[in-house]
Amino acid sequence: MNIKVLGSSGAEFPNYRPPAYLIDNFFLLDAGTIGSVLPDIDQWKIKTILLSHSHLDHIKGIPFLADNIIISNVNNKVRLISTCDVLNAVSKHIFNNVIWPDFSKIPSTCNPVIEYVEIPSETEMEIDGYSITAIPVNHSVPAIGYLIKKGPSALLYTGDTGPTDKIWRYADKASALIVEVSFPNQMNDMALLTGHLTPSLLLNELSKCKAIPPLILVTHTKPQFREEIMRELRNISLPEIKLLCDEDEYII
Ligand SMILES: [Zn+2]
Ligand SMILES: [Zn+2]
Repeated sequence: MNIKVLGSSGAEFPNYRPPAYLIDNFFLLDAGTIGSVLPDIDQWKIKTILLSHSHLDHIKGIPFLADNIIISNVNNKVRLISTCDVLNAVSKHIFNNVIWPDFSKIPSTCNPVIEYVEIPSETEMEIDGYSITAIPVNHSVPAIGYLIKKGPSALLYTGDTGPTDKIWRYADKASALIVEVSFPNQMNDMALLTGHLTPSLLLNELSKCKAIPPLILVTHTKPQFREEIMRELRNISLPEIKLLCDEDEYII
């Protein structure tokens, strides 16, 4: 499984883009960044987008992708996959013909650019040759993480979460974990209030795993605190932990 990091920040600044991970060039895990980094020909390859939750930093690229497809007349179709709560939020608050056109009816209701596909919680679903399980996590809005399996590779992605439990039951199956750490340790209260993690909260979360995945990729850091978080992650002294950068690429 090839993972290209289009964005891995918990904010937006020059060189720091919101989260999006392109799997094997056609499968997008969250969609905070698309058109600002992918040329058109690569945008057309995206067939499926898995959304962890409805926050803007995770969906921001989708309205522009839909518009690009229509304007370029490439007859592409993108499936947005998530839970009912997340899909309802996106359709009600973004594709509502006020903030952006309703691309689930454009160019026509029988052949729209965007199709909403609901995924049940904690039930393995086969999508494009991948086995995908959505697992609820603990954020300020309804949110899920994902276990994505293909052949011997399995990627576990937390999305945004504070301290949580269910997702760690899947950690022993994962060849790699993408986990959020938004704030440094001194902002523990802010992290708990907003449903995020710090390095020391991460350490506690990892203690819930039966087996720690061999590769841990930390994402969603606030760029304002990146250096501090990096120092604190080094102190955890787990050799398999790496802080993701935009444009990183991993094969697992
Ligand atoms: Zn969020
Ligand atoms: Zn976020």
